[in-house]
Amino acid sequence: MKVTKEQFIRDFKDTLHEEQLIKVPAATDTELFVALAKLIRKYYTNTWINRNKALTEEKAKVAYYFSIEFLPGRMLETNLLNLGILDTAKEAFAELGVDFDAVKSAEHDMALGNGGLGRLAAAFMDSLATTGYPGFGNGLRYQYGLFKQRIVDGYQVELPDSWFGSTGNVWEVRKDHDIVDVKLYGNVYLKSNAEGKLVPVYEGAQILKAVPYDVPQIGFENEVINNLRLWDVEIPQENELDYPTIESRRAIQDITAVLYPDDSSYEGKRLRLIQEYFMTSAGLQTIIKSYLKQGLPLEEIYKKVSVHINDTHPAVAPAEFMRLLIDDYNLEWLDAWQATIKTMSYTNHTILSEALEKWDAELFKTVLPRVYQIILEIDNRFVAELAQKGVAPEIIENTRIVKDNMIHMAHLAIIGGHSVNGVAKLHTELLKEDTLKDFYYLYPEKFNNKTNGIVQRRWTQIAAPELSKTIDQVIGAGWRKDIHELRKLQDFVGDDQVLEDFYQVKQVAKERLAKYIYQTTNQEVSTDAIFDVQVKRLHAYKRQLLNVLHIIKRYLDLKENPDLDVVPRVFIFGAKAAPGYHFAKSVIKVINELANLINKDATLKGKLKVIFLENYNVSLAELIIPAADVSEQISLASKEASGTSNMKFMMTGAITLATLDGANIEIKDEVGDDNIVIFGMDKDQVYDHYAKHDYFSRGLYESNPMIRRIVDSFVNGTIPNCQSEGMEIYEALITHNDDYFLLEDLESYIEAQGKIDDLYRNRQKWMQMSLINIATSDKFTSDDTIREYAKEIWNLES
Ligand SMILES: *Cc1c(COP(=O)(O)O)cnc(C)c1O
Repeated sequence: MKVTKEQFIRDFKDTLHEEQLIKVPAATDTELFVALAKLIRKYYTNTWINRNKALTEEKAKVAYYFSIEFLPGRMLETNLLNLGILDTAKEAFAELGVDFDAVKSAEHDMALGNGGLGRLAAAFMDSLATTGYPGFGNGLRYQYGLFKQRIVDGYQVELPDSWFGSTGNVWEVRKDHDIVDVKLYGNVYLKSNAEGKLVPVYEGAQILKAVPYDVPQIGFENEVINNLRLWDVEIPQENELDYPTIESRRAIQDITAVLYPDDSSYEGKRLRLIQEYFMTSAGLQTIIKSYLKQGLPLEEIYKKVSVHINDTHPAVAPAEFMRLLIDDYNLEWLDAWQATIKTMSYTNHTILSEALEKWDAELFKTVLPRVYQIILEIDNRFVAELAQKGVAPEIIENTRIVKDNMIHMAHLAIIGGHSVNGVAKLHTELLKEDTLKDFYYLYPEKFNNKTNGIVQRRWTQIAAPELSKTIDQVIGAGWRKDIHELRKLQDFVGDDQVLEDFYQVKQVAKERLAKYIYQTTNQEVSTDAIFDVQVKRLHAYKRQLLNVLHIIKRYLDLKENPDLDVVPRVFIFGAKAAPGYHFAKSVIKVINELANLINKDATLKGKLKVIFLENYNVSLAELIIPAADVSEQISLASKEASGTSNMKFMMTGAITLATLDGANIEIKDEVGDDNIVIFGMDKDQVYDHYAKHDYFSRGLYESNPMIRRIVDSFVNGTIPNCQSEGMEIYEALITHNDDYFLLEDLESYIEAQGKIDDLYRNRQKWMQMSLINIATSDKFTSDDTIREYAKEIWNLES
């Protein structure tokens, strides 16, 4: 859209006046934010309405992306940028004497996700709109997002994230006309109707009202707006008498109260099952209703609708879809089943077995009696069909949905859909040859890879404005629209002035972060030091502890020899641990105590600092990532399905220090071996250890004095004030044989860290590497990832 600065100022003042009855100088940042958001809404309303009308008229095929998590972070700047008026707004605010950054910070992060999975879903929403594809999100409107993390005495403390705050969600629109009922519990039996057909009769079911709230997803400068639909729960008016007390009402509200703060392990709670079913059922019901308005036959719904199952949380979708088609719309089983398979597709996000959801059959049957019957029928037919084809009983047993009194949700998603994808090349290979190998044997044609991506606009134009301007100066501004133009930067690796400009831009980002570090931790860090960053959820497989082992080594070396010639380093961490994940919380405590020890030690002469920034979230990522020199991507090979922060760092010019895991491998393929630092075992070496059972961490510990010296510092008082946590870590590494092979990879990691020092000393060489990373990061735009999903899985037209 087009609006002049003068017009914008007038519109803004009017909005502030109308909405808040106040003038600019008197308004708080929150009031200014709300007014700005309302103005943005006015600007896009017509586009949004027209888009919905156009999609209905064109009878376009629509993809629905079902995800229990969406992690967009703040929306204000993205919305302004995508409408094409971010600069105008910033200039207008400057003229009004208003601090734009303060106003933008008044927006609460929309943190309805844990980490990578939710962030990917949010990225896809942006990219679907930007590429012009009709793709709508479907999720839950949690009252509380991911917990807010505070560090108290080195420990993680969790606080509720009441993100609605005083403003509510300024972007959402409640859609009363799309309210549907969702049924839970009760008894279901089948009864013959007048035509002799068996129909289900529900007795004593609990009926809930599912209320949709739509959040617009604005495409980048293209007049396209899609929808992210988030469901909330309410008590139907007809059933009010069933909930006479505040407690009984609260029990219902609990369904959408909180996001489960655990992104990788199976959460065996009834409430979680209800959450999953609630959003799936509500979403599918409205999808079918809106499809039927086109007057087309329901058997052919797959021609106009794709339903994507993001990880197993919405994997009840094939069974619920069958229930709706058969029970509510009278389709025959086989017609319904064909339509279901052609409609559904599924993304697998992990090979960690604890994250492959299974539900206790009794629990499932109690909460979802009719869906349970349908799952049994799907399972029976699946088994019978394979047996008839002569498939080996062992394979049938491994792949069926119901076994050992458990319902295997990934199996349902694979059997009930036409596509299964992994999220990086290595991950997809591991699915085929290991985790899902029996399914790959049965359905090779369903398997495909879609390497994750990131929204480049957020990580460059929004998070790194100075970097973006410098890119404009070097290659022109075309890359903002077509990210592949970044490749032109490769022509400038020999241009020392350009390299120096990029160096200065990095320094500006580092200064901004240094200021924040000082404000929040009272630590002064030098921007001449290497900013070495590991920010991501805290998990054993991500190996923050390996990073810690190396820091201890540096610390001990410097204590022994204070004149040691190393490039000063600031190690920066940001990580939330799941509240019930004891080990992860112990690692946080130890990092903080190590930071206390190191940061106050004057004998280190500023050569070493450790910073833990609390409450890592998308907004903090936007501050940290552009300021990083080194991107730590050090998971045990085979365990990180893809990773996406690795891509964000690459795009803003950090050098990746990585194992050959997930998308790190594809980053290496893009930048070339000389522009990334790789260490450690690869996946084959890891699997070899698994096969041979030949890894003994105690042997390494006993035979290698350097390793022993580092590991002992957890228990010999070197790191004060964390005796029990230190012991827990010692035991994990030595007594319990170091599940994630830290000690095996340690020497190679330390060597790689030495290489980082050497490379950084040569500023020209370092900046060449950095530039090549930026220049080739276009590979990881989620716009292209979504184009692949649209073409190869959903069969959409832009
Ligand atoms: C990108 C992102 C992640 C994912 O990080 P990984 O290192 O890929 O696990 C998690 N949290 C936030 C806030 C992010 O922005």
